[in-house]
Amino acid sequence: MKNIQIIYENTKKMTQKGKVASYIPALAEADSTAFSVSLMSMDDKIELGDCTKTFTLQSVVKVLSFMVAAHHHGIEEIMRYVDVEPTGDSFNSIVRLESNNNKPFNPMINAGAITIASLLPGQSMFDKVKSVTSFIEKILNKQVSVNNEVYMSEYHSADYNRAIAYILQANGFLKSDVEEALQVYLQLCSISVNSSDLAKIALYLATNGQNCEAACSKNVINIAKALMMTCGMYNFSGKFAAFVGLPAKSGVSGAIIAVVKDGEIEHLKGPIGIGLYGPAIDDVGNSVAGIDFLAKLSKQYDLFCL
Ligand code: GLU
Repeated sequence: MKNIQIIYENTKKMTQKGKVASYIPALAEADSTAFSVSLMSMDDKIELGDCTKTFTLQSVVKVLSFMVAAHHHGIEEIMRYVDVEPTGDSFNSIVRLESNNNKPFNPMINAGAITIASLLPGQSMFDKVKSVTSFIEKILNKQVSVNNEVYMSEYHSADYNRAIAYILQANGFLKSDVEEALQVYLQLCSISVNSSDLAKIALYLATNGQNCEAACSKNVINIAKALMMTCGMYNFSGKFAAFVGLPAKSGVSGAIIAVVKDGEIEHLKGPIGIGLYGPAIDDVGNSVAGIDFLAKLSKQYDLFCL
């Protein structure tokens, strides 16, 4: 058996140590034992587990919506509305909305991501969602859709996000009204993908956008990766940077993307995108098996990027 398969088999057992997210009813239906990993280089891939199984992007989409908004407006304009500082608070925390001159700390926490949702190009909710789905479709070279059941379930349990959005609006950090920003943000979280799709998205970042037609400036992609490194793994981001050393972003669905700028994993060489799905998550919101797999992978194949 190849080393990578051994890592996968050992890590799969970790799914027992987590629980599927239950604060959004539709996410609670996930199979807690599922675990799939896709690794993609420019010309080959390794897939372990069922990489065709679909789930929703959740917070992984925050990287993509940030890139679309920053590419459209330019980073200076974006930084008038959202900072790029880590917080160490939980993703939906409300406690710091009155510090930093009321400006959300970064686009990887909900406050920043809801502001970014309001800044997306387009006049309507539909256009704003489309700006991100079109970007993803160019990266994946296929159509994607919003899982309406998950979206509705999120929308009806969005009290915290609605509270955040009202505070953002009161302080002048929303470019649309509260309901539109929330609807855009929650629809984006509910986009359906599989692990292979995640790996392609990560490969796009690893190649600085050189592997497909989707347009985003290298500067914005670099900032997205810096945000992943400093704020991508919820309030485990510091430890993940210190002990795994890869730009990564997770979501409460159990999705993770991780970026290898230049590495060698079995027969894969050069820039490598990694997509994982393991819906059993830990207390901060990260896939338990996903974190364990990436830690072992980074060590075994010497991937630490700093
Ligand atoms: N839709 C989720 C929420 O805002 C995203 C959570 C996440 O993946 O961090 O509650």
